[in-house]
This record gives sequence, structure tokens and C-alpha cells, in this order.
Amino acid sequence: MSTVGLRDVSKVFPDGTRAVDAVSLDVADGEFLVLLGPSGCGKSTVLRIVAGLEDPTSGAVLLDGALANDLPPRDRGIAMVFQDFALYPHMSVRDNIGFPLKLAGLDPDNRGERVSDVAGALGIGEVLGRRPSQLSGGQRQRVAMGRAIVRRPGLFLMDEPLSNLDSGLRAELRAEISGLVRELGVSTIYVTHDQAEALTMADRVAIMRRGVLQDVGTPTQVYGRPATLYVAAFLGSPRMNLLEASVYAHLDRYVAIDLGSQVIHLPWDDIRSRVVAHYHGERIVVGVRAEALTPVPPDHRGDVLRGRIRFLEHHGHESLAFLDIGATAVVIDEVGADPADPDEFVRRGRFGQLVQRLAGRSAQPSPAAAAQTSVLTDQGRHHRRPGELVVRLAPYPAVSAGDGLAVSVRVDALHFFDERGDRIDVGWR
Ligand code: ATP
Repeated sequence: MSTVGLRDVSKVFPDGTRAVDAVSLDVADGEFLVLLGPSGCGKSTVLRIVAGLEDPTSGAVLLDGALANDLPPRDRGIAMVFQDFALYPHMSVRDNIGFPLKLAGLDPDNRGERVSDVAGALGIGEVLGRRPSQLSGGQRQRVAMGRAIVRRPGLFLMDEPLSNLDSGLRAELRAEISGLVRELGVSTIYVTHDQAEALTMADRVAIMRRGVLQDVGTPTQVYGRPATLYVAAFLGSPRMNLLEASVYAHLDRYVAIDLGSQVIHLPWDDIRSRVVAHYHGERIVVGVRAEALTPVPPDHRGDVLRGRIRFLEHHGHESLAFLDIGATAVVIDEVGADPADPDEFVRRGRFGQLVQRLAGRSAQPSPAAAAQTSVLTDQGRHHRRPGELVVRLAPYPAVSAGDGLAVSVRVDALHFFDERGDRIDVGWR
């Protein structure tokens, strides 16, 4: 088996593109590590550096603890699976899977046995005699996996292996792939831009943006305590509500988090209040996920935010209310539309604004865009615009667009970020 270590690895291409910027990362023996980030953030380049297909400009690549910068790809004990899994069209499934063993000089009997074992494990034992053109997309991807597995590599590198498949098959293969590699105990680096894929498959997730590693941790850690504003915005569906706030510390009592027209209180016995109090008189960003907001009766006491529902989205198993609470949203570049929220594409586009106007909804992106300001931080750009709070409701809510709604806020589940986008917290991880 294999461990991987990257130490301050950078890659600058001849045209000056800094694709990977001082990345340090470890993959433990048998670990399933997912490298997550938007298109162009450098994930594939990291993978290619580990495979030996690309030389790092600086830094060290360690395989099983030994410096491997100059080790040829064929000596790295690595198998790769790509998005466009190229199978040999003129060969049967059996011969496609067995091809690496043939190259390695294994005799036909042993080859046949190994191929049958792998095909059985992948559920393609019945189609060994077929050609790739006679297979479904999912079966072809299983053959590609089989060809990678059959050599019993120490390390799997997978680059968006599921992105050409439809969503049902992707979900099925996700479970299969992660189950299989765990059974085999092979260390794996899996590249994807799909946060749901990352959170469901990974032992640990490493999130990249513009060549820089933003955060590494278990899915629970990176989702529950994201290291940066970017990670907070990237993970989860619906996306985390990110709101601009001013901080006013009332020492020994509470810290007031002023969202513009409403205030929530961080009690002094919440240990984070000591750190947030350092930002007295300054602006920070407050993150709150939909699961930390609960609709309550209008006269409910405590930390409650009140607003008017701008519109409702029905998702079958739940509805999402977009609540205008008079706050300013912070929008992060490069997060992309929410894959589980196709309406976000629609809302943001011109077509969506037209649909909303025809449907009598406010065409909110227009004034929002006009009021948008942007801040360039070390981690990229984020913008401010009037924004709504996304609240989860039951599938058939008793409220409609235009109604008032009160939601109580779980203050212990709030996230705080400074203007640079770094998490404000104490003694975490
Ligand atoms: P995707 O998901 O779209 O494949 P990625 O996160 O894998 O994106 P990379 O393919 O690693 O990103 O590319 C990172 C950056 O490096 C991009 O800006 C890309 O345009 C650039 N890049 C990649 N290969 C080269 C090259 N050979 N020469 C110059 N720039 C390159």
C-alpha cells in the first residue's frame, strides 16, 4: 500500500500560470482523500504531479515516505482513472481488463483468474465477452475501474471519473467506488468539483481555490467548521447564508452581531464571544446554515430574525423560503451554481429575472447587482448585495411569498469570518 506526502509543492507553467501554490498535504495508507474545487483551481495538476506526469516547479513529492520527484511514472505503483475512460474498442471486456497483466507478462491462466475476480467484484462478470460499444456508460466506467484495479496498485488516482454519467448512475457508482477501494484498502486521491460527491465519498476532503489549499479535514470537519469563507460557501446545499455584520461588544454580557436592521446576541458564556469581541466596531461575515434556522411563531422570544418571504422554492422533500431580513449578503466568486439547486442558475440569469417578473416576483438580482460592491481579499473576490436568508420549510408550507416569517437562530451554530475570509474561532481542530 502507499502513503503520499506533498511538501510545499508549487507548479508554475511556462506561460506564468501558477496552477499549484505551496500545497502541503498527506494521504495516509488506505485513505480516500477527495481533492475538491472549482474548474481551474489546480486539482488535476496536483494529481498529475503525484502521478509523475508533471514535474513540480518546487517542493517535494513523497511516496511511502521517500522522495519521489524523479521517480518515473511507471515505477510509482499508481493506477489512474480519468473522466474520459478510454477503453480499447476492438478488445472484449475481458481483454481490456486483462491488458495491464498481459503487458506485465502474467500467464493467461493467472490473468483469467484475476480478471474474473475483479469483474465479479465490479458486477460486470456477465459481460466479459462484450466489446465496449455493447456496454452502458456505467458498465464502461466499471471496466475502466477494473483495468486500474487488476494491477493491484498501491495508489489510485481518479480524475472526475463519474462526471460523464447521468446523476442516478453517478450516485450508484459513488457508493460502489468508495466501497470497493475501501475493501481493497488502496490509498486513493479522487478529484471532483462536486461538493456532494466529495462529502459523501471522502475520508477527508481537501478544498482548493486558485492553486491554494483552503482547508483539509473529514467531511464533518470541513462542513461543520470551514476554515475559510470560501469553504463555507462551497460546501452544502442549500448554500450557507453569509451575511455582513457589525460587531459591538458589551463586555461580560454579550456581543451584539448587527445584521443591518436586526441584531443577534452571542452570549458571553459562548467561548467564541471573546474572540469575536476583538472585532468591536468592525465588520465581519456571519455564516448560518439553513439547519440552524427554525420557523417560530411571530411572538417567539430569544434570537429571532424576522422578514418577508420573497419567494418559495419547492424541492419535493422540502421547500426553501428566501426571506428578506434587510441584511447584506456576501457572495463569493467561483463557487458556481449549486448543483442541487438548478433554480439558482435560473434566478441568476437574465431568463430567470424575466420569469420572476412574469411570475410577479421581485426581480431582485437587478437592484442587487446595482448595489453590489466587491472586496478583493487574499483568497479572491467576494461581493456584497442585498440578500435573503434561505430557510428550510416543510414540503407543503402554510406560508406563501409575501408572508412574514420569524425564524429562531441557533447562535451556537453561527460561523464567523473576518474581512479576509478567515475563520474567527478559538482553539479549533
Ligand atoms: P478542471 O476541473 O477544469 O480540470 P482543475 O482544477 O483540474 O480544473 P487544472 O487542470 O489543474 O485545474 O489547471 C489549473 C490551472 O492551470 C488552470 O488555470 C489551467 O488553465 C492551467 N493549466 C493547466 N495546464 C496548463 C499548461 N500546460 N500550461 C499552462 N497552464 C495550464
